[in-house]
Amino acid sequence: MDSKETKHVIPGDVLAYAEEYLPGKNTIEEDSRIISLCSGEVVKNDKELTANVDSKIKVIIPRNGDIVYGNIVKNDSRQTTIQIAGIEREGQLVYFQAEGYIRSVHDYKKDERNPQTVRIGDIIRGKVIRVGQNLELTLSGSNLGVLKSRCSRCREILVIKNGTLFCENCNRSELRKAAPDYGEPEIEKR
Ligand SMILES: [Zn+2]
Repeated sequence: MDSKETKHVIPGDVLAYAEEYLPGKNTIEEDSRIISLCSGEVVKNDKELTANVDSKIKVIIPRNGDIVYGNIVKNDSRQTTIQIAGIEREGQLVYFQAEGYIRSVHDYKKDERNPQTVRIGDIIRGKVIRVGQNLELTLSGSNLGVLKSRCSRCREILVIKNGTLFCENCNRSELRKAAPDYGEPEIEKR
């Protein structure tokens, strides 16, 4: 058997027969067959005679300075809560789930040109400034801020008009700390 060839499997695929291999990583044995429990690449270890699936999912450990993406789920005068859904790794967006927060008093108010201007539902790009149980984020930085936002009155997606966010439905503008690439985020998805 040529084990050099890369073979992709999805959950439920048969990798091998139990007479040939033992179930290894991300696999189980069922009815004398070795079955994949995840999507990934088949890795057969001919020394230990195990059939494994490499899920290619790496454990991501956030660090200070990391760029993360998420949406605002809670926003009050003291704290903004962000549900993080992605993190940048080598210029690409990688799936990553965590809770983040921004301490409003320590953040926007020192930036006079950008008063506190996010709302629940906004999609943001933030920077990690403290790693703890939850991640403390900041939006202070020229490339940081809101990437997508809806009108607080009619829920229409706001567009950039004359440098501010504008609802074409209500014909009114709203204040946000918008990122420079608002509307068309410059990020590669992975
Ligand atoms: Zn509107």
